[in-house]
Amino acid sequence: MDPNFLQTPITYLKGVGPNRAETLEGELGIRTYQDLLNLFPNRYLDKTQYYKVSQLQRSSADVQVVGKVINIKTIEQKKGKRLVATFVDDTGKMELVWFRGQKWIRENLKLNIPYVIFGKCNWYNGVFSMPHPEMELLADHQKGLKIAMQPIYPSTEKLSAKGITNRAISKMMQQLFLDTKGNFSETLTEAILQDLKLLPKSESLLNIHFPKSQELLAKAQFRLKFEELFYIQLQLITKKIIRKQKIKGFPFDQVGERFNEFYEEHLPFELTGAQKRVIKEIRHDLGSNAQMNRLLQGDVGSGKTIVAVMCMLLAIDNGYQACLMAPTEILANQHYAGIKALLDKIGISCAILTGSVKKSARKIIHEQLETGELHILIGTHALLEDKVQYKNLGLAIIDEQHRFGVAQRSKLWHKNEYPPHILVMTATPIPRTLAMSLYGDLDISIIDELPPGRKPIKTVHRFDANRLKVFRFIRDEINKGRQVYIVYPLIQESEALDYKDLMDGFESIARDFPLPDYQISIVHGKMKPADKDYEMERFVKGETQIMVATTVIEVGVNVPNASVMIIESAERFGLSQLHQLRGRVGRGADQSFCILMTGHKLSAEAKTRLETMVSSNDGFEIAEVDLRLRGPGDIMGTQQSGVLNLKIADIIKDNDILKSARYYALQLLKSDPTLEKPDNSVVRFTYAQLAKYRNIWNYIS
Ligand code: ADP
Ligand code: MG
Repeated sequence: MDPNFLQTPITYLKGVGPNRAETLEGELGIRTYQDLLNLFPNRYLDKTQYYKVSQLQRSSADVQVVGKVINIKTIEQKKGKRLVATFVDDTGKMELVWFRGQKWIRENLKLNIPYVIFGKCNWYNGVFSMPHPEMELLADHQKGLKIAMQPIYPSTEKLSAKGITNRAISKMMQQLFLDTKGNFSETLTEAILQDLKLLPKSESLLNIHFPKSQELLAKAQFRLKFEELFYIQLQLITKKIIRKQKIKGFPFDQVGERFNEFYEEHLPFELTGAQKRVIKEIRHDLGSNAQMNRLLQGDVGSGKTIVAVMCMLLAIDNGYQACLMAPTEILANQHYAGIKALLDKIGISCAILTGSVKKSARKIIHEQLETGELHILIGTHALLEDKVQYKNLGLAIIDEQHRFGVAQRSKLWHKNEYPPHILVMTATPIPRTLAMSLYGDLDISIIDELPPGRKPIKTVHRFDANRLKVFRFIRDEINKGRQVYIVYPLIQESEALDYKDLMDGFESIARDFPLPDYQISIVHGKMKPADKDYEMERFVKGETQIMVATTVIEVGVNVPNASVMIIESAERFGLSQLHQLRGRVGRGADQSFCILMTGHKLSAEAKTRLETMVSSNDGFEIAEVDLRLRGPGDIMGTQQSGVLNLKIADIIKDNDILKSARYYALQLLKSDPTLEKPDNSVVRFTYAQLAKYRNIWNYIS
């Protein structure tokens, strides 16, 4: 079959026509024969079983029954008419009900002749009733082609309104198989097919649309999922190879004075093995001729900051500037304070740029950046303003990357004649599964080890009714010299309410922990940045024992003496947020605690989140649960959801297939980087077709 044939507009298919074609495109994005062929069923109905009326269950499964209609009548209701037929077999009777198309049914339904009916049964007023059953005369049913599994295609309201029912789509599919004789070009190499014992393409498509058995269906699904993931991985890996070959970066070939001096004399602690390994990986990238594009993942508190500092020193040793961008002002300030303290010792200049830096100070920063006097710039989004021009930016580090979109990342990139090396640090671990499919073209480093001496944080879930006990616990900890965070949710839609909750909470805490014995800081989104900083500062210095805050403190804040994190209305937080918040404690040598406060009313999902937090301290494990609960689109935001627009594979459930697809894609490109070998021509061809007809390559801009 000429593959171009499949590019024929769908309107040419018998039984489609311009009207249906328009609806198919609008609702399902189907423009060509190929698109229709790739419309895979969501599920299948098993029509191998026949039930007796007496066997019917009050379940939601579809059932198939053989029997006769013995009478039919119209029932008038306030809400409209319905048509009700009595259907019997030798074990009992049930009702069939129609709300629409009653005239047609009345005229065509035959009484006292055996039918096979199929549909969902409801238990209604003491009888089973099946609304809008599929019906076929038993005689026809016995003659007809037996499709054991009936495919159910995706549908929308508009499709059904326009008469494009599941049956209509099945008909189109049949037509397509007739026109093509079910003969489709193979899209995987012989070697892969044999190695994995995959079904050939034609047989897979046949069985996905007209399964002959459960077993063949499963094989067809496996093969098509593999193929889908294989081509995505092939693309991501190719992109990475091209980037490494084509996009030149500044080679940082010197490990110079600054780096060594700092490493030998000013490191505040011994690096963990994981930190050393990651620095080595980054150094290797920076030393090559290619631009680095690396994702650094590490759980909260794993010590990413010091890695960032060492990398910035590498840039400076090679005569370049570096910048570090953080998502919030508090975090930028904290980075600045910490990093400046370290770098002053070796005479490296460092400045901070955020929204609240005054115009006059800004001007100086802009000038010093352009002359190269300033080595390191730390800040927020303000770093992306057009006025910020570097003499020679060699390395850009982005902290907590999930808050920055792709567009912002590339904006940083375009600040320069040559792209700087990019290091993206995430504290919310991206599940490995997702990282592999989303960032398959980035290099990934993982810090999988916490600095020594950390005790795992003890996490408990407490109901609001036990607040007094919790307060007693807080008092004990404060008496031991510890500090406490109490965090309230702040979600935009209910900002006013949340603000009230926070203030009520603050007052009640202030009553229980009165001055002058107790000092309380408060930080929330409505405060001026300067006031926030002041309050934050008091807590950092240990002048206040309690920090009452909204989630502004979520990222990065580092107060090692704080040992208790209380999260109010914990059911309203997402898993990654809870884990982030918990990461604010457990940074010192003392045992730390996280207390999740909730009311008694909890959804099943909220319960799962709380249980996960109580049972695990591992960010990667938590991220996997989060992914399962929320789905990938939600986690990554709409911006990147294109990649998750998979036709048949499921990033979570088909993780094993994903790994295997990545492995085979890697092997193939290793042995034949340009896909020149005759055996691989099928892959080269398919890849080109995909790139030509489907814009699936724009996953990551
Ligand atoms: P994160 O990865 O969450 O950004 P930080 O870089 O803020 O973590 O580090 C958390 C805390 O651990 C800081 O107080 C930091 O000084 C400390 N730290 C980092 N690395 C080490 C280490 N190797 N040994 C001891 N403490 C460390
Ligand atoms: Mg950090």
